[in-house]
Amino acid sequence: TAKAEGRSGFVTFSPAILSQIDMQLGEEAGIKRALNCDEFFLVWQPQFELATGRMTGTEALVRWRDPVSGAVRAPASFIPIAERSDLILELDNMVLRKACVQAARWMPITTEEFVCSVNVSAKSLQADAYLTHLTETLRQTGLPPSRLQLEITEGIFIQNSRDALESVGKIRNIGVSLALDDFGSGYASFGYLADFNLNQLKIDRSLLSDLASSTKKQNVVRGIIALANSLGLTVVAEGVENEAQLDFLIREHCHGAQGFFMSEPVEERLMTNYLAARQGGVRLEQFQEKCVT
Ligand code: C2E
Ligand code: MG
Ligand code: MG
Ligand code: MG
Repeated sequence: TAKAEGRSGFVTFSPAILSQIDMQLGEEAGIKRALNCDEFFLVWQPQFELATGRMTGTEALVRWRDPVSGAVRAPASFIPIAERSDLILELDNMVLRKACVQAARWMPITTEEFVCSVNVSAKSLQADAYLTHLTETLRQTGLPPSRLQLEITEGIFIQNSRDALESVGKIRNIGVSLALDDFGSGYASFGYLADFNLNQLKIDRSLLSDLASSTKKQNVVRGIIALANSLGLTVVAEGVENEAQLDFLIREHCHGAQGFFMSEPVEERLMTNYLAARQGGVRLEQFQEKCVT
């Protein structure tokens, strides 16, 4: 925070803030270049239906490959920077396009229930041109809207709920699904769940972290599953890392799950192999036996 308005009326910045601004500008320039040079790519994390053990969807997650070192950067290191500028609009549009192209390619080896999820920042979703871009992207890639789901976070409901309501309504009208991501990690004002026409709640992985040792967390997760059911929403748990968490979710009739225990996010080729084999990732057979009961 700037030492705002010194006695003279000028705003003065500390050296620490100036260097932070420098970094931000440098990082923005880097993201711009990466967009132009196509340095971003997608990895895919399978989602499973717990009643059947089937892979019913996959989430696209963006990665940035440094062309010089070959190192891969996780979204946490650049999405927040992109979100502070308008670069996030371009980045989200690019991800949406790549995801739809790929999802359309997978159509011949998937059934109609198979849905690809794409994360979208509140800022992008509320941009005037977003809906046009979404419609155009679906048309150009030939992906049916029913095969696409957008993941949003509750941030969108806090900023400007009239605009948000309108954006959400329009997206649902063209037949694209909407999931509320990271549910249970933020402000969790439940009122908006009644106002917004959503399809899915994704339980934040922080609620699963010490599930086994915390009866209270178990009750919270149970409560979210019941809430989703009562609102007619599907509910998917994120960050399933072990068998105990999976067992709990199956017992509680959570609809779906995603996490390292079933599969980490994988590159396109491996995802294609999973789909071609009509199976999921590592440990899937064991997992399917557990689910189909
Ligand atoms: P998210 O949408 O909640 O995605 C789930 C994150 O949890 C992913 O991290 C995934 O790799 C990680 N994860 C999945 N299973 C497990 C598990 O069992 N244990 C643990 N510890 N982690 C697990 P990732 O890929 O680093 O993405 C982080 C966040 O970055 C995403 O959270 C999403 O908010 C954002 N993001 C990713 N791609 C995009 C994008 O294309 N656009 C925008 N706007 N945001 C994106
Ligand atoms: Mg997500
Ligand atoms: Mg999440
Ligand atoms: Mg997130």
